[in-house]
Amino acid sequence: MHIGNVYAMLAAWLSAHAGDGSGDGDSQAGSERQRGKVLLRIEDVDGPRAMKDADKWIMDDLHWLGLDWDGEPVYQSQRAEIYEDALRSLESVSLDDFPLVYPCFCSRADLRAASAPQEGDRFLIYPGTCRKLLSWHPDEVRSRLEAGQRHSLRIAVPEESSSESIVTFDDRVFGRQRFDLSREVGDTVIRRSDSIFSYQLAVVVDDLLMGVNDIVRGRDLLRSTALQIWIRRALVASGFATKYVIAGNDDSNQSNDHNTLKSNNSTNYRTNVTAEDPAYAHLPLIDDPAGVRLAKRKRSLDISSLRADGVKPEQIIGYCAWLLGVRASESQGVHMPDATGPVAMSAREALERFTWDDIRVDKSDRILPANWASELTGAKTAVYSKQQ
Ligand SMILES: [Zn+2]
Repeated sequence: MHIGNVYAMLAAWLSAHAGDGSGDGDSQAGSERQRGKVLLRIEDVDGPRAMKDADKWIMDDLHWLGLDWDGEPVYQSQRAEIYEDALRSLESVSLDDFPLVYPCFCSRADLRAASAPQEGDRFLIYPGTCRKLLSWHPDEVRSRLEAGQRHSLRIAVPEESSSESIVTFDDRVFGRQRFDLSREVGDTVIRRSDSIFSYQLAVVVDDLLMGVNDIVRGRDLLRSTALQIWIRRALVASGFATKYVIAGNDDSNQSNDHNTLKSNNSTNYRTNVTAEDPAYAHLPLIDDPAGVRLAKRKRSLDISSLRADGVKPEQIIGYCAWLLGVRASESQGVHMPDATGPVAMSAREALERFTWDDIRVDKSDRILPANWASELTGAKTAVYSKQQ
């Protein structure tokens, strides 16, 4: 993990633990949202790219940082059967008499396009080549499939200028978002030609089945969110979710329901599966002093090397909290000589000071100062009068 991962994880952790008392202007006054749970999901769907033991290192770092989670982690690599089932459901849906899922014989680029969007939100808008092929020459498509020609599967988005093509959602940090699926997203690969399910399908299926109703992540995924809402709605329309709600709400531990896909680790998803869109909060990104996105990681920014240098977890949490706009002050029972910089604190202490309003104050990407590492190691140690 690097400091940017900790920053995002801390924000998710704080959001879940704060409930709705976290400074959301539009939350109903007086009604305190139930405190949420933090779920850990290892997104190793892209098997060949996943690093061995990376999950162990991540969990070790999270324990050390005091960022705990509820239940067992979910591994995407063990859920191919569930994604397959979701795919079958989507294939049963049609969009204006056209199949929602169709084969794409275009080569190479689709592999790249189906990877997890990394930096820069590199969406390649698919020109619709194989969608036209299916409309105009269905026989050719059939014979190519029968001949076993290598192909990926794409999910179609609504036609341009149709009302369905516009997806809107309210982001907790960036406010109202509006995307035209046809122009800004395009038909997207959900299963690659090497039969690996795409990130975009896997996370939607998982979010739905794990009952995730609060998603916190980097702003580079804003556009993916529009696509994911589309896929989610299609899954719900296909009846896929309902099937799992029935399975998931069964409190007895019996696995004799024929609809229950009780594969290896499906027992943890018995949460609140809901058709409603989740709440979203997208965070400003973090650049290193040279202006390079933190995701293009450097060893010096890895938590493991910071740990090796003797940095304390409270210093890292305090720094990330500071990037999230948390400012310690005397009024909050903190006595410190200088309140302008980051202050070492635990996640619990950050929770007492966290509000979404503080992130909204400055939506610009964070740039770490050149001396950020010494800022971290030299982080002022505040005296908390309220904490034990
Ligand atoms: Zn194609």
